[in-house]
Amino acid sequence: MGRGSYIDGRWYGDGTEHLEVTSPIDDTVVFSTSYDDAHGAMALAAARRAAPAWAATSPGHRAKALRRIQTALHERQEAIAQAICREIGKPLWEARGEAKGLAARVDLTLGAIANDVRAIELANGAGSAQFLPLGVVGVLGPFNFPAHLANGQILPALMMGNTVILKPSEKGAGVAELYAEAFAAAGLPDGVFNMIQGDHRAGIFLSGADDVDGLLFTGSTRVGEAILAATHHQPHKLVSLEMGGKNASIVLADAEIDQTAGELLNAAFITCGQRCTATSQVYVHRSRIDELAARLGAAIPKLRVGDPWDPKTFMGPIIDQASKRRLLALNSTADAAGVETIVPGQNLEGPGAFLTAALRMGAWQDQGYFRDEHFGPDLVLIPIDEAEEGVEHINSLKYGLAASVFGGQECDFGRLASRLRCGVVNWNRGTAGATGQLPFGGWRHSGNHRPGALFAGRLVSAVQARLHGGGSVSPFVEEALRS
Ligand code: NAD
Repeated sequence: MGRGSYIDGRWYGDGTEHLEVTSPIDDTVVFSTSYDDAHGAMALAAARRAAPAWAATSPGHRAKALRRIQTALHERQEAIAQAICREIGKPLWEARGEAKGLAARVDLTLGAIANDVRAIELANGAGSAQFLPLGVVGVLGPFNFPAHLANGQILPALMMGNTVILKPSEKGAGVAELYAEAFAAAGLPDGVFNMIQGDHRAGIFLSGADDVDGLLFTGSTRVGEAILAATHHQPHKLVSLEMGGKNASIVLADAEIDQTAGELLNAAFITCGQRCTATSQVYVHRSRIDELAARLGAAIPKLRVGDPWDPKTFMGPIIDQASKRRLLALNSTADAAGVETIVPGQNLEGPGAFLTAALRMGAWQDQGYFRDEHFGPDLVLIPIDEAEEGVEHINSLKYGLAASVFGGQECDFGRLASRLRCGVVNWNRGTAGATGQLPFGGWRHSGNHRPGALFAGRLVSAVQARLHGGGSVSPFVEEALRS
């Protein structure tokens, strides 16, 4: 039985509600814990109480606290990796990468804030702009990177002097407990970091609470839009939304096909296609599409799908049975739309939510299969005669997270990239993955801020302009004072 929520420096395991995590590997319950609807309000009260004293600490003091968190995360690295594998079904080698990155993120965060968040001083001491803490920041996390994404937002929030309440994905509740244990071990003052377990209702509480100063959400566009609607009357609250994607690549006539195929396979199917930046569609110059389809079609059956504990496995299960059914149904959706299925997504019988990757080919159509985020291993090749066609279709989607271009010269890439309305555009590289050294996030219905990489420190700050004495006083006022 899990330890419950972590609030004000202690664990609350006596909640009236029960939460179970079912592993997609074998459909068994692998973690359970209790939670309580009251935990949200308790955590908010604790974070509020702790906020003034934490805000008053020096950046040096907070950096030392982050170093202690780094040590504690490092010590729990393997346990967190195994929990990610068990609860989310991510292959262990990949889960280890996520877990290792947690401690490494401290260096990136401290470096980014030192470079990017400096007070602006006017000449002659006439004034300055200061970056002050927002106050209490709520962080809502998704299942697909149950530790990494929240971590990337929590560290800058704490470093900038905010107190934090994490509401992790209920699908990774055991991962979240281990993650919170690292913060408990780091000896932060009570209430500076809190973690509340629970389902969407805990998220609704944090989004709606007037007293939360910043809400950093990562998850689906549907939920992000609901949060925006629920907070429209709270202009004082920072509402940062990192949402879904429908990511695409454009393959030009001179692209190097082997390199392109490798990048596409990786970007489309790593994490079983459950990355917000996963490639979902590829606009391919008509002269190269058969060649590319043959390369991809021959390789897909060789991508090993199965036991995520096995070091040779590339793709583990999809997150749950409902997602598996939804993804397998794309075989008939595509068929009905006249899209040719080159490699069908196949159900792997037995326990667990296992399915194989699908590859399809067909002309672009203005319908759901081409427009919706599938969040699974499904890739479609779409023939084009001009790169501009790809740009137009990509820009017509609701989403604007990641895109990429294969082939051409750097100037061609620059021209296409500057027309693509996406937050990330790569050249000769797939769409999946990102670096913390550059700003990361989506445009349009994929996102509105940059809460988790470079720029994150500025985002979780309240900026204050200060002018020092000597302003121009109206002659009328001077006259009034003299007479
Ligand atoms: P989700 O939207 O279902 O859930 C995300 C979090 O929101 C969970 O903690 C959930 O409990 C909470 N939640 C659910 N309903 C809520 C509500 N009405 N109000 C407040 N909180 C609520 O997302 P998911 O299925 O966990 O994650 C997959 C989605 O996340 C995909 O769409 C993917 O593209 C997206 N994602 C985006 C990024 C990014 O950086 N843009 C990164 C990872 C995942």
